[in-house]
Amino acid sequence: MADNSNKNDWEELAKKFKVTREECEQCFQFNEKIFRPRYEKSFLAATISVVEGLINEKLREDTRKPDGDGGTPVFPLYKIMLSGKMSRKNVKAFIRTFPNGTVIEYDTNGNEKEIYNTIMHALGHLLLQYGVLAGVPHTENIVELFIHFVSDGIND
Ligand SMILES: [Zn+2]
Repeated sequence: MADNSNKNDWEELAKKFKVTREECEQCFQFNEKIFRPRYEKSFLAATISVVEGLINEKLREDTRKPDGDGGTPVFPLYKIMLSGKMSRKNVKAFIRTFPNGTVIEYDTNGNEKEIYNTIMHALGHLLLQYGVLAGVPHTENIVELFIHFVSDGIND
């Protein structure tokens, strides 16, 4: 994560927000040490939720089957689950797809950033697999580009 301290002119901020210089520094420290680390953790959960929503929308578009009472598509919501138990060897992640969901098995070895990138990479593949994101034949490159844009400001 980038150190933003040099971007903050305490005097200027104090004046702008009508607070003291100490309050500026306190608020900055709160964000850096308490809020942002938690935010970064929930970012992955939020990303998974967005990917689930996009795949759900895509599945609804692709399979509009009227039910008995007048046309509302009925099927369970698509869910993505994470598992630290690998069923394959020599891969960092493996996507097991089911009709209404996916289990992303990922290698739990490595630091937080590596694991984050592995899961994000799998999510990129899922978006391609369901045609939410266009990118054949440059699959791997598009997945990396997706991570580049989505993680902007989070993963540096
Ligand atoms: Zn890949």
